[in-house]
Amino acid sequence: MILKGIPASHGIVIGRAFLFDTRRFIVSPRKIREDAIPKEIARFEEALIKTRAEILQIQKKITKEMGTYHAEIFNAHLLVLEDRMLIEEVIDRLKKERNCVEYVFARVLDKYINVFSKMDDEYLKERISDIDDVGKRIIKNLLGAKEKSLSELKQKVIVVAYDISPSDTATMHKKNVMGFVTDIGGRTSHTAIMAKSLEIPAVVGLEKATAKIKAGDMLIVDGKEGNVIVNPDTKTLKKYQARHLHFVEFEKTLVKFKNEPAETLDGHRIEISANIELPQEMDSVISHGAEGIGLYRTEYFYMNRQGLPEEKEQFEAYKNVVTKLSGNPVIVRTLDLGGDKFLSQLDVPHEMNPFLGWRAIRFCLAKPEIFKVQLRAILRASAFGNIKIMFPMISGVEELRQAKGVLDEAKEELRTRHVKFNEDIEVGAMIEIPSAALTCDLLAKEVDFFSIGTNDLIQYSLAIDRVNEKIAYLYKPTHPAVLRLIKNIIDAGHKEKIWVGMCGEMAGEPAFVLILLGLGLDEFSMSPAGVPEMKYVIRNVKFKDAKDVAHMALSLPTGEEVEEFANQRLDELLPALKKFRKE
Ligand code: PEP
Ligand code: MG
Repeated sequence: MILKGIPASHGIVIGRAFLFDTRRFIVSPRKIREDAIPKEIARFEEALIKTRAEILQIQKKITKEMGTYHAEIFNAHLLVLEDRMLIEEVIDRLKKERNCVEYVFARVLDKYINVFSKMDDEYLKERISDIDDVGKRIIKNLLGAKEKSLSELKQKVIVVAYDISPSDTATMHKKNVMGFVTDIGGRTSHTAIMAKSLEIPAVVGLEKATAKIKAGDMLIVDGKEGNVIVNPDTKTLKKYQARHLHFVEFEKTLVKFKNEPAETLDGHRIEISANIELPQEMDSVISHGAEGIGLYRTEYFYMNRQGLPEEKEQFEAYKNVVTKLSGNPVIVRTLDLGGDKFLSQLDVPHEMNPFLGWRAIRFCLAKPEIFKVQLRAILRASAFGNIKIMFPMISGVEELRQAKGVLDEAKEELRTRHVKFNEDIEVGAMIEIPSAALTCDLLAKEVDFFSIGTNDLIQYSLAIDRVNEKIAYLYKPTHPAVLRLIKNIIDAGHKEKIWVGMCGEMAGEPAFVLILLGLGLDEFSMSPAGVPEMKYVIRNVKFKDAKDVAHMALSLPTGEEVEEFANQRLDELLPALKKFRKE
C-alpha cells in the first residue's frame, strides 16, 4: 500500500511504525451538586496554573535546544490559557449544566475547534493545533493523567500521528525518531518546519495515515517524493534498502568533496549555494558544504504569529545567518507572500487567482511601511557580512525601479539614525515571470545579479498551477519554452556582465545540471542536503561536454526528449552516479 502525502522533510527511512495517539482523553459526564461548583472552579484554576508551568518549562527547554524561533510557538499556547472568553464560558456552563469541569471544558474546546476549522483563514486554522495542544494538556491535568510523550521511546521508530505538536517534538529524543508521518499539516505546518530543522524525514497531510497504518507495520518514508509505503513486498523493500545503502555509501564519497570548490574537470568554476527558510538550517548548510545562501525565504518570519516581526528581530536573524557564513554571500529575498503562502495578520483579501494577484513585491510596494522594516533590517545586517538583497516577482523595469526607490528611502532613514550598513549592498531581481524573462536585457542594466525562480517561471510560462496535482504531469522544467527563457536570461545577464543564478527546484536536480551548466549558469542554489551531490557532479564533468548537452537540448522538440537525453548523457559521463540514482 502506497500513501501519498505532502513531502515535508527530505530523506528516506525504513522502519517500524509507532502509532502515537495524540487524540484527546475520553471524558465522561459526571453530575455535581451545586455546592461542589466552587471546588470544580478551583480545580479548573489549578489545572490552568499547572499547564502554564508545564508550557513555560517546555519553552525553556526548546529555547536551549532549538533556539527562540521554535520556542515562540508556545507564546500562542500561553495566550490560549489566558483567553478570558474561553475561561468564562467554561465557568458559566459549569454553573448551568452542573457537570464535572473536565467534561464541560472538553465540550467548550470542541466548540472552539469546530468554529476555527470552518474559518477560511490559514492563520486561524493553524491556531486549531495550538488550542488542541493546550486543551489536551489542561484535560490531562484535570484528570491527573500521565502525559503521552515521545520521550519514552525505547527503540528507533517512525512516528505515525494525527498531528505532531510542538510539545511532542520538544519532549522527544531525536535519536529514536527516524521519521514523521502525519494525517494533517502542509508544507509550512509546525511539523514540517520542525522536521526540516531537525533533519528528520517527514511526510505530512496523508489524511488517513493513522487509520491505515497499524503499530509495528514496516514503513518506507520517502520525504522527497511524499510517499509512505506500508508493509512493502520484499522486492520494494530490497530496492529501498539498496537505495538507502547506496545513499549512505555515496554520502561517504560526497563528504570528501564537500569543502572543495565546484569546479569542472576543465577548470570552469561555478558556485553552489543553499536555500533556507529558517536560521536553524545554518548548521545543515555548513555541514553540507554550501558556499553561500542563494535564497533566504523570509516569509516564515511572518507566518504562525500574531503581529508583524519587528526590525530588531529580523536584523538579529539576518546577522546571525551572515556571521555564520564568515564572508560568504547570503541573498535575502524580501517578503514573497501570496500564492501558496498566506499571512492573515496582513489582512490580504482572498482572491480568485492568488498566484496572479496582490502578492510579493506588489504587496510590498503598496505597503512601504511594512516593506521598509524588512529592508532596514537587511541593511543593518549588511554591516556584519556579505548580504545581498533580492526582490521577488519583478515583472519589469518599472517595478524594479520602484523597489529600489523604497530601498533608497530605507537607506536614508538609517543614515539619519546614524546606523551603519553596506552602502554598496548588491541588489538582484528574481526572474520568475515571463515578462521579466523576456525583458531581462533591460533589467540587467539595473541590477547586480539575477536569480531564476523556476518554480514560478515554469508555472507562469506553461500556465500550470504549481500546486495542482491534476496537471502536475505538465509541469516540465525541460519544456523547450522554459529552456529558451533560461538561455535568454543567462545570455542577457552575461552581456551586461552580471552573474546569473537559479534558486528554483530545477537547480537542485542532477538530471538538469548538465544543461544549466552548459547554458552558462553561474550559481546553483538548492536545499542544503542536495549540495554535496551537485558538487560531485560538477567536479566530475567537463564544461565542454555540458555545453554540447545544452546545445543539443535546445534543439529537441519536447520536454520529454530533453529530459531523456540529459539523463542519458549524465549516466554516460558519471556511471557511479547512475548506480546510486537508479537502484
Ligand atoms: C521560485 O519561484 O522558483 C522560487 C525559488 O521561489 P518560491 O518557490 O519561494 O516561489
Ligand atoms: Mg517564486
